Amino acid sequence: MMTRLLARVLIPMPLPEPFDYAVPDGVQVQPGDHVIVPLGQRSASGVVWATAPDDGSRTLKPIEMVRGGPRLEQPVRDFIDWTARYLVEPPGIILRSVLRSPAALKPSPVETVYAVTGQPVARMTPARHAVLAALEEGPATAAELARRAGVSASVVKGLAQAGALSAREIEVDPPFQAPDPNRPGLPLTALQEEASRTLRRLVAAGGFQAALIDGVTGSGKTEVYFEAIAELLRREPDAQILVLLPEIALTQSVIKRFSDRFGVEPARWHSGLSDKERRRSWREAASGRARIVMGARSSIFLPLPWLRMIVVDEEHDPTYKQDEMLTYNARDLAVARSKLAGAVSILASATPSLESLVNAEAGRYVHVRLPARVTGSVLPDVELLDLREAPPEKGEWLSEPLVQAVADTLARREQALLYLNRRGFAPLVLCKACGHKMKSPEADRWLVEHRYTGRLVCHTTGFSMPKPKHCPECGAEDSLIGVGPGVERVAEEAVRRFPDARIEVFSSDTAQSGEDVRALVERMESGEIDILVGTQIAAKGHNFPHLTLVGVVDADLGLAGGDLRAGERTYQTLVQAAGRAGRADKPGRALLQTWDPNHQALRALEAGDRDAFLTTERQMRELLKLPPFGRLAALIVSAPDAGLVDEACRAIAKAAPSADGVDVFGPAEPPLGVVRGRWRRRFLVQAEKSVDVSAYMRAWTGRFKTPSSVRVTVDIEPYSFL
Ligand code: ADP
Repeated sequence: MMTRLLARVLIPMPLPEPFDYAVPDGVQVQPGDHVIVPLGQRSASGVVWATAPDDGSRTLKPIEMVRGGPRLEQPVRDFIDWTARYLVEPPGIILRSVLRSPAALKPSPVETVYAVTGQPVARMTPARHAVLAALEEGPATAAELARRAGVSASVVKGLAQAGALSAREIEVDPPFQAPDPNRPGLPLTALQEEASRTLRRLVAAGGFQAALIDGVTGSGKTEVYFEAIAELLRREPDAQILVLLPEIALTQSVIKRFSDRFGVEPARWHSGLSDKERRRSWREAASGRARIVMGARSSIFLPLPWLRMIVVDEEHDPTYKQDEMLTYNARDLAVARSKLAGAVSILASATPSLESLVNAEAGRYVHVRLPARVTGSVLPDVELLDLREAPPEKGEWLSEPLVQAVADTLARREQALLYLNRRGFAPLVLCKACGHKMKSPEADRWLVEHRYTGRLVCHTTGFSMPKPKHCPECGAEDSLIGVGPGVERVAEEAVRRFPDARIEVFSSDTAQSGEDVRALVERMESGEIDILVGTQIAAKGHNFPHLTLVGVVDADLGLAGGDLRAGERTYQTLVQAAGRAGRADKPGRALLQTWDPNHQALRALEAGDRDAFLTTERQMRELLKLPPFGRLAALIVSAPDAGLVDEACRAIAKAAPSADGVDVFGPAEPPLGVVRGRWRRRFLVQAEKSVDVSAYMRAWTGRFKTPSSVRVTVDIEPYSFL
């Protein structure tokens, strides 16, 4: 008798494990196949995780259907299992992050396009003439041709019937073309050549390898990892390569540089894609046809069966860490995924994270240094402006020395960037009559005034309301005033001081789409802007050749607060911001306004002494056994009322297993005590480096039950302590 098979099917839902189903006679399934299975009263789609002989001891419901679509290969399934264990999540949740485009499981839809046959048209009309003229732009669908020619689609069909046009079916989602690794790149500098040789050797060695490209801003890191990609593709034309970039750096300019180097566009993956682009990129990635994917942090979950290299550009960037929904750090997952797939990891940054630097020092990553700029231009001179000595006037934010420096810059017809990492006009709105502060109704956050839109906005939840005419507390009219600066207010001050300058604000409010970002960057590059007032988004990755002055309005912002990485983050941000200056042949200057000029991060910046900064930062972390010298995990508990959350926390605290080398702190009320009507509490677990903190958290979460209204999330290696 033929042995029957059962299939273990993982369903993209928060279920503890795959469920078993009978494989009906005559149906063939393999691990990785997409199937439809019954689940309760409904059907659900899922992926076969394993097959096994069915001994018939249980009555299993049969698989309803095998769906087709690119199979999830073993390395992808291994990554899902590993990630679920590491993040302490059900594997179905990770699978859900992988299956992000259900439409991609079907083959590309087709459409009919028309082209000219050259056959003469017997009965020519103006409408027909317009269609033929429209075809000079190339073949297109009837609808598109009708649009171009301003006629109805029936004219196109008529021409086809008359033999003047031929119809042909094409895929709506065309495959991505294979990149050409043999096109010449830029001639490398000696430093770049040496770095690139090291990386090519890593690629040649094969298997898992990791490298850190540690190079100053403008040192040509991108060109160097392009060479590593080219080397890999020459050796293995079918290899897939994932390039991770912070979302806002994923601009047209990076894609264009890539396309120029390899002759084809890469597949892209980020939150701004249309459903159609998403479907195309996913299908092409999963089938192995897309060799190169450039994407934001969520692309770490793309199914890439032949993955051989992951590049994490700007590896220190905090946006690689997702804090909401599924908490993960795409950089950490990238290294783990490379290890599982036997691929190469390349991390690149001008300001590497302490984690990566320590890995490099310990020899776990090959340390590739690029200490000088490609153009030979010098790094900007960094100077601290002590605000205690030259405080700005009341209600103003730019000190006299900074204003003077901007004036000098403009006089030389060069550009200035005023950097402040605060969106909007004012971070706090209060009533000057009664002192009432406008608070977000859904979170422990102040509402931020946005002057351009006339609204008060919560940057945590997205809540917004028109700025009220009357104080909601005391009713006084026109009494609400914005306190403190945001970029809009700094821009207002700049306009007042430099009425003839062309001034623009660059923040996620003024540049919402990739298109907006590109347009703004282009205006800046071509010298159409004199003063750019910008947040983080302006400080990353752009090359502004005429920018010679960076004024940091508030260098202290970010140093306060209980975040263990506050100093490091400030240092990185300021180096990146300062690094925008003097990229080409003109020397640059960075002026940092501070009330605390003795802070070690600022002192190190001024001295250009990264090692001094890192040494103290390291010592502090080592002493306190903080990452990367110890491990952290957080348990965040939330519930719709305070009593409930405290009661749950008491039970959770009791259930914490005792283990060697593990300390549990909390529950504590975090700074963000209430978000969207939910009360929050946090536990922090600090463990020795050798402890498997994921296993500890799994054991802990297995030892208590909470009511369904209480939500418990685990955050492995938390970055946010709010
Ligand atoms: P980084 O990522 O280190 O800041 P990029 O790779 O973006 O540096 O390079 C900075 C600028 O220098 C870019 O405009 C790039 O096109 C240019 N560049 C890089 N390498 C070379 C080279 N070998 N020759 C000429 N220009 C280069």
